[in-house]
Amino acid sequence: MSERIVIIGAGEAGARAAMALRENGFTGSVTLIGDEPHLPYERPPLSKAVLNAVDDPAPAFILSEATLTEHDITLMRGTVVTAIDRAAHSVTTSDGAVLAYDRLLLATGARPRRLALPGADGVLYLRSFSDALALRSHLTPERRIVLIGGGFIGLELAAAARMRGCAVTVIEMAPRLLRRAVPEAIAAEVARRHAAEGVRLILGAGIEAIEAGAGGATIRLAQGETIACDGIIAGIGAIPETALAEAAGLAIDNGIKADEHLRTSDADIFAAGDCCSFPLALYGGRRVRLEAWRNAQDQGNHAARALLGASEPYAAVPWFWSDQYDATLQIAGLPDEGTQTVRRDLGEDCHMLLHLAPDNRLVAASAFGPNGRIAKDVRIAEMLIGRQARPSPADVANAGLPLKRLLNA
Ligand code: FAD
Ligand code: NAP
Repeated sequence: MSERIVIIGAGEAGARAAMALRENGFTGSVTLIGDEPHLPYERPPLSKAVLNAVDDPAPAFILSEATLTEHDITLMRGTVVTAIDRAAHSVTTSDGAVLAYDRLLLATGARPRRLALPGADGVLYLRSFSDALALRSHLTPERRIVLIGGGFIGLELAAAARMRGCAVTVIEMAPRLLRRAVPEAIAAEVARRHAAEGVRLILGAGIEAIEAGAGGATIRLAQGETIACDGIIAGIGAIPETALAEAAGLAIDNGIKADEHLRTSDADIFAAGDCCSFPLALYGGRRVRLEAWRNAQDQGNHAARALLGASEPYAAVPWFWSDQYDATLQIAGLPDEGTQTVRRDLGEDCHMLLHLAPDNRLVAASAFGPNGRIAKDVRIAEMLIGRQARPSPADVANAGLPLKRLLNA
């Protein structure tokens, strides 16, 4: 009998893995199960192009019906997997079907953390295409929009809302923006750009309560100020979707716990994308969970090869971007692994930060500016990070010395 691979979660990682199974020559059955009604689609445009589209937007599909047919991938959409029976090697779906698998991939993603506050029932969140459509209708000129959380969702939505003519306030609990993933100096540049665009940033502010009123709400801050608004959107982090894995008895550690091959604590079950934590050899086996588009793609590809028996460890350099206004933020590597930061001038009022370990190993690079000015250098830095290069701080700071030259050093 031919082998059966089942993938739970038809998002970025799941869809990529399904395709990669075929690209790697797998001839058994591939079943991709997703709870959303659509074909698999890209999430990054949800906080950018979908909100700013002039006409009614459509999802940016990752796979078409024709591609699924051509590659003999069975997509079950609008279908929730409710249980995994590891002993029987089967999964049960919301419509009562029981599907047998030989190997299983969990690509269940993450869901928005909800505000636990009195009066927070009317707050909006963004994860899916239908969330984006609901938000879009609120972002009309002159409306007063409050974004709770100064992370990626909050800031990308602040930019989109300003571009649609809204009056925008961002409330962040921490004393600065983007505390989790972005170096302070870059976050300060992002803050300056938002302030210049007319966004009011309230940092270090706790929210005591939200009081609903006619057609809007009032937010009461712990410091006493009240903010009246017409709509509230929260982006206060994402929680990995681990419930199925947990109920099936798989190990959990800030996500579904996988090893360097993306194999979970069950030898026949793998995990990929936002739901999965794994050790990064590049950083001494540090366990991380990355919530980023390229990680979901890379892990989808890698998990497919691992499902087919390949044994190389997952070793990609973390990388992500965030577009806000006409600028982009890009980070390669993990900045908090660095103990020294070197600034490199990229010209036209732009620069990049290079983060070095005590032994000068380049561990991360970060920059905020026009894509055409920063992307190439961040890409070269990413290659240097992957090669564990140890450039001298003076060399990386020297704008007259092309970074590319360090690749050959
Ligand atoms: P997902 O894409 O979330 O897919 C998981 C799927 O599994 C979902 O459809 C979910 O509903 C489904 N599912 C879960 N449980 C079950 C179940 N039991 N049964 C069936 N189906 C199930 N990253 C960047 O690097 N740059 C960006 O600019 C960027 N922008 C973003 C903008 C937004 C608005 C969002 C939400 C994310 C953005 N990201 C960005 C992050 C990136 O999109 C994610 O890291 C990526 O989508 C993760 O892919 P995934 O496959 O792990 O999870
Ligand atoms: P995020 O980037 O983790 O940011 C959440 C922010 O909200 C953090 O700054 C957090 O501060 C703050 N916060 C937490 N609780 C709060 C509260 N009660 N009140 C006010 N602020 C609070 O998460 P996100 O912006 O919600 O994004 C959700 C998901 O979408 C993530 O997976 C993200 O990667 C993804 N996404 C990615 C991109 C991108 O990469 N370009 C774009 C959009 C969305 P602390 O850190 O101090 O807790």
